[in-house]
Amino acid sequence: MYRTHNNGQLRAADINKEVTLSGWVQKTRDKGFMVWVDLRDRYGITQLIFDEERTSKEVMDQCTKLGREFVIQVKGTVIERESKNPNMPTGDVEILVSELLILNESKTPPFTIEDETDGGEDLRMKYRYLDIRRKPVRENLIFRHKVAIAVRNYLSTEGFIEVETPYLIKSTPEGARDFVVPSRMNEGQFYALPQSPQTFKQLLMVGGLDKYFQIVKCFRDEDLRADRQPEFTQIDCEMAFVDQEDILNVFEGLTRHLLKEINGVEISEFPRITYDQAMAKYGNDKPDIRFGMEFGELNKVTQHKDFGVFNQAELVVGIAVPGGNRFTRKEIDKLIDWIKRPQVGALGMIYSRCNDDGTYKSSVDKFYDQEDLAKWAEVTDAKAGDLICVLSGDKNKVRTQLSALRMHLAEELGLRKSDEFAPLWVVDFPLLEWDEETERYHAMHHPFTSPKPGQLELLDTNPGEVKANAYDLVLNGNEIGGGSIRIHDKKTQALMFDYLGFTPEEANAQFGFLMDAFQYGAPPHGGLAFGLDRLVAILGGQETIRDFIAFPKNNSGRDVMIDAPAPIDAKQLEELNLAVTLSKK
Ligand code: ASP
Repeated sequence: MYRTHNNGQLRAADINKEVTLSGWVQKTRDKGFMVWVDLRDRYGITQLIFDEERTSKEVMDQCTKLGREFVIQVKGTVIERESKNPNMPTGDVEILVSELLILNESKTPPFTIEDETDGGEDLRMKYRYLDIRRKPVRENLIFRHKVAIAVRNYLSTEGFIEVETPYLIKSTPEGARDFVVPSRMNEGQFYALPQSPQTFKQLLMVGGLDKYFQIVKCFRDEDLRADRQPEFTQIDCEMAFVDQEDILNVFEGLTRHLLKEINGVEISEFPRITYDQAMAKYGNDKPDIRFGMEFGELNKVTQHKDFGVFNQAELVVGIAVPGGNRFTRKEIDKLIDWIKRPQVGALGMIYSRCNDDGTYKSSVDKFYDQEDLAKWAEVTDAKAGDLICVLSGDKNKVRTQLSALRMHLAEELGLRKSDEFAPLWVVDFPLLEWDEETERYHAMHHPFTSPKPGQLELLDTNPGEVKANAYDLVLNGNEIGGGSIRIHDKKTQALMFDYLGFTPEEANAQFGFLMDAFQYGAPPHGGLAFGLDRLVAILGGQETIRDFIAFPKNNSGRDVMIDAPAPIDAKQLEELNLAVTLSKK
């Protein structure tokens, strides 16, 4: 038997017990006549003591050979510690060692395996198995496990069945590039790894399973913007005979359950706003509503004076920064520099200080009097002591810029509190999105999303205005899930493919199987998917998904530990009948 107890288990009540423990040497403190060793495993740390007077010479000698991360087994007696450590669950006791067995030696690890390590990100990723021995990483993985189990239990209780769908499939267009896998048995042909199980879960509804879920890996070959992973995990769901309301209710229930179970937070009904409202109020379809600073549109109260910049703008819009009047001129200039950076791209910013005595002082006093500025304050809901920041220009651009400023200020002012949770549904997304590059409409969610009833006709006259039965769940400024009610008849689906620029032949070659299935009594259905990695990170009070993934990839999509991706050898290429020509780039 390797152990009678784990290293997080022993307490004062165990004093005098003979125990066997195994684990890793976290550190040793050697006073010559006495040696202390911190023995670690997943469950905690227990202190061992080797004492010249009470431990045999042989064991004393042996213990001087111990290095960091050696794997050992000890036998000994639980004794009361002289200087107790109230910060450790096992801090009342230590083990007076009588036998020591080195189970495996260890090279000196490249970084310290402690809560606060001296190892940088790259080094820790290269030796991730050592990083996982550290408590913060281990606890994140355990936390993820808890969330996943809570999800499974909840959905299973609600009657959902977890069904696995294949990884080697044909492309599902969801806006990203596919990862592809060559087929040895079918020369010149490739599988695609699923961007999501979208078409399969719809086919499961045609198959009559009624309520499906799966905690599943999805693969998207995207340029990795900050905090994205090429393979990530979704809680993927689909239901038959439902409308949007049914889906929102079930998954609001799931989210509420998780917040309660995992975070002990009770949240009543989630607010719902339309996509159009979200864009107008926050300039963003995933607004963080933990704080205010809602947009106030100022066209009406600014475009009656001679200020050309505002008069020519499609949109003049502002936010009231709480307490912002205390910003110095220098601080405001810094803000202006911040929004002028190419990443944000604003041309400038007008502001109005809301003084405590109820007067205003703006950067455009030449054009606007106190009465005008009072109206700005009314529209932006500014109070005495606030600062009104105003941007103007092209509607869509200005909204994005002001949204960036709103988030930046919230961060600076400490308004994005990680222990506060503010979920909301954003509904009624547009069906289509104009793509400047290809100069055509794309499905905003995916091509299987149904338009709102009665809006199909609008596709011919005003495609950008058509709204979809599509919804997102947003938590603390992050989209954690999204889905839609699907098209379930062949005719509408074919029409949709046509609008999206597929010829009937292309649509048939790519999605014939789905349209065929729709001819055999497909029920009305819909669903959604939550990003598990992001959900776990937010519930865990952090924003980096990498911290909650056992073996994540870096920003270039590399696993630096196993060194992937990598070339394959000539024999494998030959078997696949593939030749590799490297581009000259
Ligand atoms: N397949 C979609 C996605 O991955 C989710 C859904 O529509 O259910 O975003």
